[in-house]
Amino acid sequence: MGQDSKDSLFPHERVREEQDLLMSDVSQAIASGRSIICHAPTGLGKTAAVLGPALAYAIKNGLTVFFLTPRHTQHRIVLETTRLINERYRLSIKSVDIIGKRWMCPAVAGFTSSAAFADFCRSQREEGKCEYYSKTLSKGKLSLEARLVLKQLKNLGNVHAEQVAELCSNSDICSYEILLRLAKSATLVVADYYHIFNPSVSASFLSKTDKDISQSIIIVDEAHNLPGRVRELLTERLSTFMIGRAVKEAKRAGYRETLKLVKSIGNALLSLLPENVPECIINRDEFISRLSGLNDYKDIISNLRDIAEEVIKSQKESSIGAIARFLEVWAGPDEGFVRIISRGRSRFGEFTALSYNCLDPALATQGVLREAHSAVMMSGTLLPTELYRDILGFGEGVDEKVYKSPFPKKNRLALVLPLATTRYKARNPREFERIALICASIVNFVPGNSAVFFPSYYLRDQVNRFFSPNSEKTVFLEQPGMDKAERADMLSRFAGYAKQGAVLLGVVSGSFGEGVDFANNLLKCVVIVGLPLQQPDLQTKALIDYYDKKFSKGWDYGYVFPAFNKALQSAGRCIRSETDRGVLVFLDERYAWPNYKRCFPPDWNIKITRDYQGEVKGFFNT
Ligand code: SF4
Repeated sequence: MGQDSKDSLFPHERVREEQDLLMSDVSQAIASGRSIICHAPTGLGKTAAVLGPALAYAIKNGLTVFFLTPRHTQHRIVLETTRLINERYRLSIKSVDIIGKRWMCPAVAGFTSSAAFADFCRSQREEGKCEYYSKTLSKGKLSLEARLVLKQLKNLGNVHAEQVAELCSNSDICSYEILLRLAKSATLVVADYYHIFNPSVSASFLSKTDKDISQSIIIVDEAHNLPGRVRELLTERLSTFMIGRAVKEAKRAGYRETLKLVKSIGNALLSLLPENVPECIINRDEFISRLSGLNDYKDIISNLRDIAEEVIKSQKESSIGAIARFLEVWAGPDEGFVRIISRGRSRFGEFTALSYNCLDPALATQGVLREAHSAVMMSGTLLPTELYRDILGFGEGVDEKVYKSPFPKKNRLALVLPLATTRYKARNPREFERIALICASIVNFVPGNSAVFFPSYYLRDQVNRFFSPNSEKTVFLEQPGMDKAERADMLSRFAGYAKQGAVLLGVVSGSFGEGVDFANNLLKCVVIVGLPLQQPDLQTKALIDYYDKKFSKGWDYGYVFPAFNKALQSAGRCIRSETDRGVLVFLDERYAWPNYKRCFPPDWNIKITRDYQGEVKGFFNT
């Protein structure tokens, strides 16, 4: 190990070379109060390499480590790593595992949004209607039962949020309130991105847990997700579906004035979009002025809010309240946002929607990242690192590091085939056939399962017309919007073909492109067809303009790099362990362009070739 193991609190006996490098870079960055962006491929053991040094420094200097993930499922490995550290170094580092209040609430479940749940919870507390809350706190102080549960949890040590929820529900206590108290004395807080990066949550979360960002080390796992998640957190929409639900709600409750008001808001929304226009950008006042005949804008919001408060006395959420929330946010700043009115179609039918879209995640991340003692961004796909440095708003005090994959190089063949393209101008049946024949001749040779990922279902279906007749393998077609059970079912049927081989035709942003674990070398080959670029819609165009003005890199930061990242994520499904072996094929001439080629992880040793058959055969025959 490159440094004293006590300084890094590494939980295992052996450390790999590249893991040691990561650990030492993280240690140095934290010790000097800098931040670090780490492109650290799958299998490197990132969690142990980053958590150890962060905890070691935090313990010595009285700081808190926030380990933030985009999914609850990733919390377990962090808690397990902490347990191993405690065991190995005979420490008793306190950790707390926090998931969203909405997922822990014993009182009620099934909300459509966190904001709706927050309204419900607040109103229940304020009106003394939540029996769990009343049993937990009285006049701001913990009840005897709550103190007993808290003591029990402290004795148990590092417990998962689910265990806390279970224990609390046995005593009819609000588990979220208990978790906040547990967090006060914890050195490690494992939470979701939004606990720290959602401005409407973080202030109260930090104050209730007695934490201070300047006294914290923030670790962001799977950090390639952070920009998109933060944009989503700061974005609000109002659709004709929501208006329809609010109309029903007002009718049901007999609020005639509110019914008129909601209908007028719906009409104002519809009047913004000219016929035969799919979407257009509008400004704040275009919508507000259409409501001016109804009442003062602020009064409209407060009327709707008052009615919503009444509604949630008898049902858990209010669509009228959702409209009030949207109107509040709509009046927000222009800089870093774009307002769009658009038509769309979903499985419930056609709709029109007004949206206030966040373009700039730095609006929520920059302040936190610059104020924190250190921030560590880590992911298996954070290339190019300067993209994340710039769009998250790091400024000068950040290191950028790219680590090598720990898996044997001989187990991976990565090819770029400049033999076709999915560029819009080149989309025609001949090109689709060319793509299909190349894909078929590759997957027919692969001794096992393959996946081919496309930029869209439309392109997938066009290519499949020529692919299926030429494929010797059973073809699985991913369907749009598959739920968890459907995905698991398809994956298990696909796994049944591991010996004879099958091919999954999916979409880069679909159900299998990211987050699905094709374990045990289930995929021997992944082909990425084209760059997953959609025809830029107004929001994407606004993003390109915005980053052009901010960094003179609109096209790259707003369009190409995010798409490239998705392609790498999908390609990453192939090799998940050091014994996995497989071929990654990028089929589009643009991948060979220098500006794109530099975004591939350097240790992939990408080969540009036309002799794909020779390369693939050579790889599998050795
Ligand atoms: S106070 Fe706790 S138990 Fe009550 S509604 Fe809110 S989260 Fe649920």
